[in-house]
This record gives sequence, C-alpha cells and structure tokens, in this order.
Amino acid sequence: MNYNYDFEIASMVVMMIVLLHFLFVRQFPTDKTKTFFRLLLICIGECIFNILSCIGIANAALIPEVWNELFAFAFFALEGLCSYYIFRYVAVICQFRKRGNFLLKAAGILPFAFFEAMVLLTPLIGFFYYFEDGQYHQGFGAWYGYAYITYYFLLNLALVLIRRKVVSVRVKIIIFIYSAIAVGAVVLQYIVRGLLLTSTANVVVLLMLYLAMQNPDELLDTVTGLANEKAFLLQIKNMIENREKHDIITVYIRHFHHITSMLGFENGNQILTDVGTYLVKTCGKFHVFHNTEDTFTVLIASEKERKALEEKIQKRFSLGWNIQKNNVMLDMAMVIQHYPQDFSSISGYGSMWEYLLERAKSRGNQTVFETDARLLEKYRHRNKVELAVERAIRERGFEVYYQPIYSLAENRIVSLEALVRLHDEELGYISPEEFIPLAEKNGTVIQIGEQVLEECCKFLSKHVLSNESLGLENIHVNVSAVQCLRQNLKETIFPVLEKFHVPPNMISLEITEGTAIRAPELMLRHMRELGKAGITFALDDYGTGNANCSYLIRFPFGKIKIDKDILWAYFEKKSARIILQNEISTMKQLGLPVIVEGVENQEQRDEMERLGVDYIQGYYYGRPMPEMECLRFIRRNL
Ligand code: C2E
Ligand code: CA
Ligand code: CA
Repeated sequence: MNYNYDFEIASMVVMMIVLLHFLFVRQFPTDKTKTFFRLLLICIGECIFNILSCIGIANAALIPEVWNELFAFAFFALEGLCSYYIFRYVAVICQFRKRGNFLLKAAGILPFAFFEAMVLLTPLIGFFYYFEDGQYHQGFGAWYGYAYITYYFLLNLALVLIRRKVVSVRVKIIIFIYSAIAVGAVVLQYIVRGLLLTSTANVVVLLMLYLAMQNPDELLDTVTGLANEKAFLLQIKNMIENREKHDIITVYIRHFHHITSMLGFENGNQILTDVGTYLVKTCGKFHVFHNTEDTFTVLIASEKERKALEEKIQKRFSLGWNIQKNNVMLDMAMVIQHYPQDFSSISGYGSMWEYLLERAKSRGNQTVFETDARLLEKYRHRNKVELAVERAIRERGFEVYYQPIYSLAENRIVSLEALVRLHDEELGYISPEEFIPLAEKNGTVIQIGEQVLEECCKFLSKHVLSNESLGLENIHVNVSAVQCLRQNLKETIFPVLEKFHVPPNMISLEITEGTAIRAPELMLRHMRELGKAGITFALDDYGTGNANCSYLIRFPFGKIKIDKDILWAYFEKKSARIILQNEISTMKQLGLPVIVEGVENQEQRDEMERLGVDYIQGYYYGRPMPEMECLRFIRRNL
C-alpha cells in the first residue's frame, strides 16, 4: 500500500518553526517548559520516522528490508513516548505534585511500559507489525496501539476533571479540543486508508499548548534580563514540592536608591546589569534571580559550593563596580537560608526572609547573615509573639497600666500615661517594646490602639468623671505611626469618647517625632481636626530621632516629653548636659511645658527641677501600675 504523507511533511515544517522559536526566545526552565521541549522533540522524531517509513515502504524494492524495520521500530517507540509525554505535560499543568501520587504514576507509566516492551519484542514476535517479502503488515497487537492512544486521552480528560478547580478554562478547552482532533484523526485515517495524520493531530496540540504557554517574558526581569521574582517563586514552589535540598543566598544592596538618585537611572540599571552578569557567570544561568531592584537571589544545591560562592561574591563586591570611569562601592548584605531545615512552605520562606533581611539591613557592609539554631529560635519566638498579640486582640487580653505624671509646680499627680501590657500563658510577660513594632508591621497595632483607648475611657468615666475626682487633668495615650497614617484617625477616636461620655480634653495623644515626620501634611490635618474638639498632643521621645526645633513650631504640640535616654546621658556626658540644658531653655522660651521621662532618683528629680522642667514621669514617683493599684496610689498621694 502507498501512504499519503503530505500532511506529515506540512506538520514537520510547523513543528520545526515551533522548535526554532522555542530555542530563540529566552525560556526560563520550568517543569512545564522542560516537558514541552521534550514532547516537541519526540513529536518531531516521530514525524521523521513516519515519513521515512512511508518512503521506505513505497521503495521497498530499492532498499534493504532492515532499514524499513528500523524506521518502523523507531516510529513505534516514539509514538509510545509521545502519548506518555502529553500525559506528563497535562499532569504538570494540572499541578499534580511530582512526589507521591503513586496511583497516578502507575496509571501513567504502566501502559507506557507495556507499549515499549511490546515495541522491543515486535521484531521477534510481530506484535505491532511484521515485514513479509519487504512489505509492511499490521501485527496481531495493532489494536493495542489504538487502545493505548484512547487510554491516554481518557486519562488526560480525567486529570483535567479532577483538577478542574485549579486548571484554567483555556487549558480545559485545549485538552478537550485536542482529544476531539486526535479521535477525529484516528477515525479519518481509518476511513481514508493510507492517509497519515498522526503528526497533524500532534502539531495541532503542540501549537495550542505553545501559544497558551506562559509568555516567557513574564518570568524575566526587563532591566537585567535575569529570571525575575515570579520565576523565583515558581522555582521555590518546585523545590518544596519535590523536597530538593537547597541553599538560598539573597544578595541585598543597601540604599540602592541613593545610587540611582546620585548617578541616574540609566547608570543605576547598568550597575544592576553588571551585578547580574557577574552572578550568572559565577553561579550559573538559571540559578540567579533578580527579585526586586535591590535584591538578587541565588539557588544552590550543594553547601560546599555555596560557601565558595559566598566568598567569591564578597570579594567581588569589595572591588567596587565601574561606571563611567567611577568606581562605585555597593553596600551589600548576604542572607543565607537553607531548605528544608529553615522552612517548609513558601509563606514560611517569605516571612523568615523578611525577618532576616531586616536584621541584615542594620548590620555593616558585607554582612553575611546565615540562619542557625539561635536565629531560628529567635525567629520562632517572634512568630509566637505575633500569635500571642493576635490572640490577645481576639480575647481582649491586653491590660492597661497607668504611670503617674507628676507636676513639680503643683506637687501632685496631674496626669497618667497609659501603657499597654501583655501577659501570655506560654510566653509570660511580653514587653511592648517587643510586640508594638511587630504589631505595627502587621497592622494589628490599630486594634491594640482602639482597645487601649477604650480601657482609658472606661477608667476615666468610672473614676475621674465620677464624684470622686482624682485631680487628674487627662490621660496620655500613645498613638503609633500606623494609626496616624490612616486617613480616618478621628473616626476611630471620637466614637469611643462619645460611648463613655469622655470630654476630648481628657485625652492627650503621644506622638513620636518619627511619626510626625513620616506624613507631615496628614499629621497636621489630624492635629487640627482633633485639636479643635479639645484633644491635646504631646511630642514623645524628644531627642531620640532627627526632630529639631522646627517641628516644635510647625506642629501644635501642647507638651514635649524628653526621652529617658537623654536624661540618663545628661548625668554621664558633658555634651549631653549642654544639649539638654539648651533644649529645655528653648522650650521654656517657646512656652512649651516639658515632661522628663525616666526619672529614677532624687538627684535626677532635683536637677530637672533646677533646669525648670514642669513635669516628671519615672520610677521615682511611680512605676506603671494596674488600674486598682494606681487608684490606691493616687488617693494616697492626694
Ligand atoms: P514610651 O512611650 O516612651 O513609654 C515610656 C516607657 O518608659 C514605658 O515603657 C515605661 O514603663 C518606661 N519608664 C517610665 N519611667 C521609667 C523609669 O524611670 N525607668 C525606666 N527604666 N523606664 C521607665 P514600656 O511600658 O515598656 O513601653 C515601652 C514603649 O512601648 C513605650 O515607650 C511606647 O513607645 C510603647 N507603648 C506602650 N504602650 C503603648 C500603647 O498603648 N500604644 C502604642 N502605640 N505604643 C505603646
Ligand atoms: Ca509614650
Ligand atoms: Ca517616651
């Protein structure tokens, strides 16, 4: 019989074009692209041997029979592989894990293994085909070939159905169309004897898969041409799914924005490209990622290799980077994480990475920050604290302690500062210095602030606004930067005051300099809106940040609180003494009352009185106390 292989030749041309395109366009090697590439090669091979078989059979008289036997053998071997690889591709896009899934693996591999075993035996037993007088004949097992193809169609359809929730509509359509075309091709081949359509069905599916495949540029960074954050996360996901041991080096360039603002974007980008090129040259093409402007990551499987790379990278960075005849030093920090010792999920990786990077950022140049048992313990403790805070918010488990603020002029307690307290069953007492910064990062400080304000209002309405006036003018409540950055600060404060019938002038909000600087316009608006109603403001921790006198004039603060570190330095260093004396004198001239925190003894108290300080807060007059104890304390000192 003569075969018509015109369609096979046309399909071959299309497949070669896809192959060339695939090779020319930069592809990031994911499981998907790797499987696709293998499938493409198999289909091309199958097509070549199909055509060769046809030519060989048509010219049986001219060529030795062994050649035709060889072509047929190769064609069948590749046909078996082809269906199996389409199945593997479908399994990848349906996001089946490589590990586990033994049933699926068996369902995929057993028919394939049997097929290939039969291909091997065919020259001996004539299972799929046999040659007689140079002529090709179907063997007694030819039915298995049809059954085999049908089986994989059904299996692929089943995979898509099982994973219908994770598979996109586009992929579903492709698989269904592919099945229809493949079945159609088999039927047509049966009707029109001698017409070959195997590769036509293949090429249609390959084209559809290729066109639907992720745009390769999506995984590449436009500046450096390296794989980007998305590609990195894909790799990490793969690594975790397949439990592949890896070390991850993050190369972080501190203050990179200074470089771009000094040298311009173009030069900044050139430096990043140079760093990227160096890392690729040293660590290998698909191991390096450019995640964000100032971070690169390197994935390394061997620990020994990683240690050597670490040193090389450090050495290279110590040489500086040449740009326009300038040698620019980059302030670099390296963070090293280990999988699987350090984390077991992508989110675990991410939150730990943030934690490590934050710590590395505050270290000196060329820091190498590698996770170890101690660091992991600290990190886990931090997570526990975060959970404890969330629990306390849910169960309203925060307590508010009150610390007296003493007026030197009136010789009595005139105010209290509300300080939040957290006692956790497992962790015991957790200092606000530890949990407030965490709560600021994850935003829970907003709820903490609301609960503290509510407690203060309850306290005021019960004890101060009642018959028994304790002589308190107000309560100082700390407000975090995160609260102040919200547009609707007043809407979180006024309703609480109204609920407990607390006049706004009973509340003084303590704001640190850093908060005021962060969004000065917004802060001014808040202060005007709240101030109009009677709420007053105190500038907290004065002297620790970079605030200067201009802030005192610009923002309508009613009182200034000098930080305890400044007070303590006063008694240690001459320079600190001069600064504090001047500051207090400036504030007096501006008519701003001053509170000094952290006064622990008589000497400190007397000295502050001598300088003209108005209010004192510190252990000398009283520690922060729970509500009832504080009440007793105030009554005793009335
Ligand atoms: P802060 O606002 O500067 O509060 C004063 C801190 O100094 C308190 O620490 C207080 O207990 C401590 N202190 C007062 N007098 C003395 C003294 O004589 N000697 C010593 N060694 N310490 C003294 P605390 O309660 O641990 O609070 C730490 C920080 O946590 C506070 O610093 C504040 O920034 C923050 N914080 C506390 N409560 C809240 C809150 O309700 N909301 C917000 N956003 N932050 C809070
Ligand atoms: Ca304070
Ligand atoms: Ca303070």
